[in-house]
Amino acid sequence: MTNQYHMQIITIDGPAASGKSSVARIVAQRRGAIYVNTGNMYRAMTWAVLQTGIDPNDQEAVRQAAAGITIDSPVVDGQTQVSIKGRVLTQEDLNSDPVNRGVSLVARVSEVRDRLVADQRALAALGPLVMEGRDIGSVVFPDSPLKFYIDASEEVRASRRRAQGHTDQVAERDRLDSTRKTSPLVIPEGAIVIDNSLLTLEQAVEAVLNRLP
Ligand code: C5P
Repeated sequence: MTNQYHMQIITIDGPAASGKSSVARIVAQRRGAIYVNTGNMYRAMTWAVLQTGIDPNDQEAVRQAAAGITIDSPVVDGQTQVSIKGRVLTQEDLNSDPVNRGVSLVARVSEVRDRLVADQRALAALGPLVMEGRDIGSVVFPDSPLKFYIDASEEVRASRRRAQGHTDQVAERDRLDSTRKTSPLVIPEGAIVIDNSLLTLEQAVEAVLNRLP
């Protein structure tokens, strides 16, 4: 699995609304790398599953529906988008209340994870990446030497989501993400942990950049 590109993949994991997306985007820009938000891939899968009218609690139905759904990741302005059958999904699609409620239920289905993990590994062919999610340093690119885990207190994370205008059960998503059988949220072996509760965005970006070779 290891190839030359795996050495250039910066992995950033952490719980919901820890601020990792904002940090990852800026770190990618400063390093000239492509930014990949894997949460959006799980959100796109959830959006498409919901379009079929399936209840995301029904794991067997999700498994069957997901088998027929393909997520494409075209690169626009240095970051991957998520697209299904040629339609690029918008932030409104990806962050809707039904998707927020359903995404951790869809993401716990192991066949869904197997497919999306394979898609994420294939993106390494694009060149240097900053990829963020829940299992990037632990499962997707465990050989990367550049792993980070960005955390923040639950209060800070809930208030960040409220400030963005989303109704989101952050604590419930974290519970599902941390307790699922397949690739739960963990601090990856070898990851540098950054507590982002009291940092400004620029300080958090610097905390990552300062640790890079
Ligand atoms: O990063 P974001 O909060 O948008 O991720 C949405 C959801 O997608 C997470 O709560 C988790 O259930 C799932 N996810 C995952 N593995 C990843 C990225 C996201 O299971 N690598």
